[in-house]
Amino acid sequence: MAKGKLYVISGPSGAGKGTICKKVLEADDNIRFSVSMTTRNPRKGEKEAVDYFFVSKEAFEKLLSEGGLLEHNLYVNNYYGTPRKQVIQWLEEGHDVILEIDYHGAFQVRESYPEAILVFILPPSVEELKARIIGRGSESEEIMNKRLEEAMNDLAQADKYDYRVVNENLDAAVAEVQQIMMIEKSKEA
Ligand code: ADP
Ligand code: 5GP
Repeated sequence: MAKGKLYVISGPSGAGKGTICKKVLEADDNIRFSVSMTTRNPRKGEKEAVDYFFVSKEAFEKLLSEGGLLEHNLYVNNYYGTPRKQVIQWLEEGHDVILEIDYHGAFQVRESYPEAILVFILPPSVEELKARIIGRGSESEEIMNKRLEEAMNDLAQADKYDYRVVNENLDAAVAEVQQIMMIEKSKEA
């Protein structure tokens, strides 16, 4: 069986990555989502092992020192990383795998796994991005401001990605990501 393809989805916080990935995954049961590990606290409604593996700083650093992470980053005072083992296993089993990670992680993945396909999700405007972050209502004002600051750095990385998708209309953005996956699949033939 052919190996699966590794997709990296990035974009500023609030661009809609999570919402888009959820719909892409619901529509194709061959695709797997890599659950990241983080030291940040769960948001209301977030579930352990579904949204993230929520771990202590010590546990994160231990796995990191053992080489158990495909990539990692420190973002607004917390660690985030991709557990390596599960991703490699799924790819070998022929599943396509999505990593929803930031650009620091994306470029680490590109280095260690050059076949990875990097997709950047853009908000229609900075104003709309702010509105979405505020609308999500899950962070304090201080953290929200830091996230907005980071978002500006994130946006500057978009042109280094293989594909860019503007998430204005959600269904259209989902269709565009699905089309990218079809294009990449057709390259095999
Ligand atoms: P990210 O995972 O990139 O941080 P989310 O998926 O959490 O972003 O989306 C941020 C907020 O924007 C959520 O409240 C989500 O429901 C909303 N959202 C996502 N896509 C759209 C869209 N196309 N139009 C309007 N709101 C959207
Ligand atoms: P959030 O706290 O909003 O869930 O995520 C904050 C940022 O960390 C987002 O830009 C998100 O894409 C990124 N992120 C989530 N998981 C990972 C990961 O495993 N690795 C890296 N490098 N970034 C991640």
